[in-house]
Amino acid sequence: MNNKIIDLHKASVMNTYTRAPIVMERGQGSYLFDSEGKKYLDFFPGFGVGVIGHAHPAIADAISKQATKLIHLSNTLYNSLQAEFAARISALTNSGKCFFANSGAEANEAAIKFARQFGSQTGRNEIITFKNSFHGRTYASMSATGQAKFHKGFEPLLPGFSYAEFNSMDSVREKMSGKTVAVLIEIVQGEGGINLAEKSFIEELFKLCKDKDILFMVDEVQTGFGRTGKYFAYQHFDIEPDIVTLAKAIGGGLPMGAMVVRRDLCDIFKPGMHASTFGGSPIVCAAGLAMLDVIENEHLIEQIPGKSEHMAAKLEEIKSGCSRIDRIEGKGLMWGVKFKDNCADVVSECLEHGLIINCTAGSVLRMLPAINVSLEEIDMMAAILNKVLTGKEK
Ligand SMILES: *Cc1c(COP(=O)(O)O)cnc(C)c1O
Repeated sequence: MNNKIIDLHKASVMNTYTRAPIVMERGQGSYLFDSEGKKYLDFFPGFGVGVIGHAHPAIADAISKQATKLIHLSNTLYNSLQAEFAARISALTNSGKCFFANSGAEANEAAIKFARQFGSQTGRNEIITFKNSFHGRTYASMSATGQAKFHKGFEPLLPGFSYAEFNSMDSVREKMSGKTVAVLIEIVQGEGGINLAEKSFIEELFKLCKDKDILFMVDEVQTGFGRTGKYFAYQHFDIEPDIVTLAKAIGGGLPMGAMVVRRDLCDIFKPGMHASTFGGSPIVCAAGLAMLDVIENEHLIEQIPGKSEHMAAKLEEIKSGCSRIDRIEGKGLMWGVKFKDNCADVVSECLEHGLIINCTAGSVLRMLPAINVSLEEIDMMAAILNKVLTGKEK
């Protein structure tokens, strides 16, 4: 049965992803179940989308109720859900206004277009991003991405991007010119291997942008909605971004992306300048609202520090018994186990033992568990990972 599905898949779906030969059927919280009923502990739910795990009943309920009312509505009319959701997002971020799209790449695309429109008033169009960043796969977001491996064969890229060294003000100053209009940065680089921005770096960078009327844009596509222990990663610092881009977790599992722009700048975008047919559909907003309610009602953000400490301690313990591991880096429930060598083998072995994690940047095991994960589930993860790495039961 599985082989038949996989064969049909291979015959019909383009080969743009590396997939494990497992057919998943359903999910529940931090677990996935395959077509043979085998249970997997998912420490990488939906590539960072599953911030409250799989199939949360509140989200299922919101989606099914809304589906009987109104699934999609043209953005030439009003619906209460888009308004309510935007107001909630605004209150949680920079008090700005939202533009809704359908993915992280599109959220960044919107931010890049906004920055260019903003800069057109002063003849500026250059954007500084960072080495090892990841901003998406569309032309603008790919061009913004500071990793050559994502560009190969797709040149010429969109002009106007330069890539500074992460955590280096000297490098930023070197890249900056009179044409610089914006900086786009991940506070914790995800795809690039879980690299944390330093507080002094972010605060200095923010100040420099303020001084030079350069837009400070943060890509919170992966770090958003509690992932790092605050609603948004920039909130660990004393800064207020001009633009915040969001996606992954935002729609409670449904596709959504958003750009939140500082209130006094918003009106640079006028009717007709940018659009998305599906952006902010009622059903996606209903799911997003349900997700925000869950985070609030279940006090999930408040519980992250304890879970984070527990997970860090467990990972450090594993590191002490495994010479392949160089170091552990992370924040909240976003962790990277940095290996001295390629760690793809660890991911497939963990999968065989019923644990789903990810390998990024070649040598970094990445874990983005649901923030409603339990301490017992963190222990289970650690036991499996330890067994895979050391051959020892704990
Ligand atoms: C995943 C990701 C994106 C791209 O999001 P898509 O929804 O895949 O387009 C952009 N930025 C960051 C930081 C991401 O992690």
